[in-house]
Formats: sequence, C-alpha cells, structure tokens
Amino acid sequence: MVDYDRLSREELVERLRALENDVSDRTQVTDPRSVSEEQYRTLFNTMVEEVHVWELVRDDAGRILTWRLVDLNPAGERSWGMARASVVGKTADEIFTTATEHFMPIVTRIFETGQPYSWETYFQDIDQHMRMTSVPFGEYFFTTGFDVTELKKNSARQEKLSMMARMATEASEIGVWELDLDTGRLTWNEQMSRIFGTDPKSLSHTASDWSDRLHPDDRDEMVAKLQTCIETGEKFVGNFRIVTPSGGTRVIKARSEILKSESSGTPVLIGTNIDITAQEDLINELQVSKELANASNAAKSEFLASMSHELRTPLNAVIGYSELLKLMAADRLTEKDQEYLDDILESGQHLLSLINDVLDLSQIEAGSVEIDEEDISITDIFDHVETFVLPLASRKGLSIERQPMPPCLPRVCSDRMRLSQILINLLTNAIKYSPDGGRITLAAAIPSRHRVRLSVTDAGCGIAPDDQSVIFDPFTRLHNDSMTPAEGVGIGLAVSKKLADRLGGVIGVDSDVGSGSTFWLDFPCEPGGTTCDESCGKTSRPLMPADPA
Ligand code: ADP
Repeated sequence: MVDYDRLSREELVERLRALENDVSDRTQVTDPRSVSEEQYRTLFNTMVEEVHVWELVRDDAGRILTWRLVDLNPAGERSWGMARASVVGKTADEIFTTATEHFMPIVTRIFETGQPYSWETYFQDIDQHMRMTSVPFGEYFFTTGFDVTELKKNSARQEKLSMMARMATEASEIGVWELDLDTGRLTWNEQMSRIFGTDPKSLSHTASDWSDRLHPDDRDEMVAKLQTCIETGEKFVGNFRIVTPSGGTRVIKARSEILKSESSGTPVLIGTNIDITAQEDLINELQVSKELANASNAAKSEFLASMSHELRTPLNAVIGYSELLKLMAADRLTEKDQEYLDDILESGQHLLSLINDVLDLSQIEAGSVEIDEEDISITDIFDHVETFVLPLASRKGLSIERQPMPPCLPRVCSDRMRLSQILINLLTNAIKYSPDGGRITLAAAIPSRHRVRLSVTDAGCGIAPDDQSVIFDPFTRLHNDSMTPAEGVGIGLAVSKKLADRLGGVIGVDSDVGSGSTFWLDFPCEPGGTTCDESCGKTSRPLMPADPA
C-alpha cells in the first residue's frame, strides 16, 4: 500500500499517471500492490462523486496562499464542465474566480486540525447544492463533492407538503393517527387528543388508547371492521361514537387505510377522525323540525278540510235556496230584488270556488290527492273544458279556437279530472286577463317522441320575464293595473303546477308584455303501444313526432 503522505508532489503526480496507464494498458495484474493502486484508480475514475486532488501553495513564511489542482476524476470533469487536461496544474483562482477566498477557511481548518471536514455549499449561478468533504494529507488535500440539488429540492417539497397537510388538518380540525402494524405502536396528532378529550401525556401509545374510548355499543363492530381493514387491506370508512372522560358522547366520522412505507417496508395503518357531533345534532334537530312541520301541515290540511266542509254546507244551502228562490218566486220579485238575488248567487259561487281552490292546494301539499289514471283522448278533454268555459268567454265576447290536432296524436294515460282542472284554470285565466272581444287558442302538439304539449294562448296583457317565475307561487298576483280583475286570490296557477307535478308533467309560460301569453303543459306519453287519438284514424303504432326535437 502506498503511503501518500510521504510522497512529494512530483512523485504523487507520477504515480497517478502510472496508475492511469496501468489501468488502461494492463490486462493481467500480478503484483498485489499494483492491484490495490489499480483498484483505487478504478474507483477514482468511476465514482459518481466528483474528486479533486489539490496541492497547497505557500509563501516563504509558510502561509497558505492558494492550492493547485493535481488531479480531477471524470465525475469532476462532468460537474465542472471542464477537461481534466485543461485544469490540472492551475490554481483554484485560475479555475474558479474567488475560489481561494471562498474556501480558504475550510482549507485552513483541515490543515490546522488534520481532520476531514464536510460541509454543504450552494452555487447560485448554476443553482446547485453540493455536499463536500475535504481530507488533508501532507501538503495535499482531496475534496469529494456530491450533487444534492435534487435531494434538497425533494426535502423542501416534502417539508412544504407536510406543512400544508398540517395546516389543512389543523384548519379543518381533523384528527390524524398512525398505527405501526409491526410494533403495535399508536401515535396521533394533537387534534385527536382534543377530539377524544385526553391528555397527550397520558397516552399508552397502544390501540387501547382508541378502543377503550369507543362507545360500548359500537366497540365490537368497530374493532372488527378495523381488523378486516388490516387483514384485507380494504379502506375503512364509517361513523362511530366515543365516550369522553367527562362522560359525553361524540360522533366521529372515520377513514383509514394501510400504507406500506417504501423506505422501511413496515406497514402502517393511517386514519383520520372528524368530530361530526354538531352536524349530527343539527341533522337530528332538522329531522325533528321536519316531523313537526309535517305534523302541523297535516293538522292544517285536516283543519282546512273540515273547515271547508263546514263552510261548504251552509254555502251550498245559500246557493241552492237562492237558485230555488230565483226559479220559484221570480214573478213576485221586483227588478231590484232580482239584482240582489243574482249578487247573492254570484258571490256564493265565487266563495265556493275559492274554498275549493284552498282545499285543493292544501290537499295537494299534504300529498293526499289521489291520481286516477285512465286512457284519455285529448280531443275529449278539449271538448269538455271548452264547454265548461264557453259561457264565461261569451260574456266577454271572446272566441275559443282550436288549432288542428297534429297527425297521430297519441291518447294519453292520465287523470281525466285533474288534467281538465289544469286546462280550465289556464283557460279561465286567459279569459280573465284578455281584453273583451279577443281570441283564445287551444292547441295540442308533440314536441318530442315521449311528450305531448297542450297549450292555451291568449292575446292579453302578457307577463314580464321577471314575473313569469313567481306567478306559479301560491297567493301571487301581479299588479297589472286595469287588467287585473278583482276575482281570484293567486292560487289557480299554484294548484295547476302542483297537479302537473303529480301527473309527471311540467307547466310553463311563454309571454311578451302587451302581446299575450301561451301557458303550456308538457306531460309524458308512451311512444309505443299507445292507441292513437281518434283524429288519426289508426289504432296502434309508435308515436312519430311531427317536428322531432
Ligand atoms: P288568480 O288568477 O286567481 O290571481 P292565478 O294563480 O291563476 O291566480 O294567477 C296568478 C297571477 O298570474 C294572476 O294574478 C295574474 O297576475 C297572472 N296571470 C295568470 N294568467 C295570466 C294570463 N293569461 N295573462 C296575464 N297574466 C296572467
């Protein structure tokens, strides 16, 4: 083994050259001493760390002035971006400006102590972090350097991620725990202690820190679930209750999964706990409020139903006797008496229709409206509703026209009475909100393969876009000055909308202020196997839309 400390610079350089030649020229190695040197040279040449060998340059007083490069390995050439031959023999400052000033404290230190010294340095211009080690020998020293830039960046990234995770768990009050499956050691963050109401110092760091605090009714199930998670590797998600030291019960939302650490290979079970007691309490309160609201709604509906019955009985008597009086005593009544009688009759009928509307609304809201579906012809429905509203329309000099039915209009399966009720509401409104002498149009269309659209169009005052969304709310009436008639309380459209919902349909309006409105009702129909409305003349065929949507 060569004692490098005893060699002069020339001898050292000579030896290094010889070594290099040896490595490249010789295929057979016989001298054990040479083998060792050759191995060193091979190591020197193949190391991933850069290695540079330096010789001190001193002044006459023996003070270190600088150092001169004796050798540089291939990793050093790559790192410096310089060929060995171009730098060997040059001083540190000739290779890197200010290198002497920069590294003098380190060189001085290793020669004063005679000990190796490791440090880290950052080369700002090339954004490189290096971990360096310098070892003195005789008047020489060598320095190894390892690029730790990626390591540094990774650890900075790791630090940032950990900090973000910590901030996120703190802000969202998430408890995080970790169970080492090899050692059985359980650790958790401060939030876990806060949730469980325990002093972190009193923890035993075993699974019992957790299981002992589980609510007795949930314990067996939770322990079994966690065991399954450990055995199968499946994620665990669930809620359980814990009992705090003060005896309180808290509801916890938990998740956990197994992480197999890449570096240690030790499997750990990692989990989170969130205290959701407040949300659970709120949900329970809401549930109770909902039940109360349902109960009071049912009571309201019951009250309205019985009140309506109580009101309708005497009202029907008033209407009935007024009609009777009109019929039997007409010749004995004065003209004024006749007028009064008509007023009584009209007011009675108006009141009766209002009571019926209010009752309808409350019954639909309470879900107590029965839907009686049957096979219906749209033409029949149109005939029926038209007859019903014709007297009202005539009184205002309005005509009701029907657009030609589309070919192959299907019959529909719906509730005849409820469907008529919706259309009568829409027609009554069209009459109410149209000026005298106009025209109202009743139409049917097939907007898509599975839907039928029935519509009522008037040439009335129209409805502003903002108002179109509110007119279907109960008790909403628009203030259209002279166009708003006195009769009505704003229930008709609300009842129609709820009935349309119950029939599986949708009600809506297209309107322009000043030009009139089209109220429409879309509802589903079966395309295949539905019998055609009689207007088609066919009996059974798939529905083909007139204008495919
Ligand atoms: P009511 O007619 O009893 O007031 P509705 O619920 O039937 O109650 O209608 C609500 C409001 O919608 C009406 O007060 C009216 O302002 C407006 N409206 C309904 N139909 C029409 C229509 N065809 N043209 C213009 N406005 C209408």
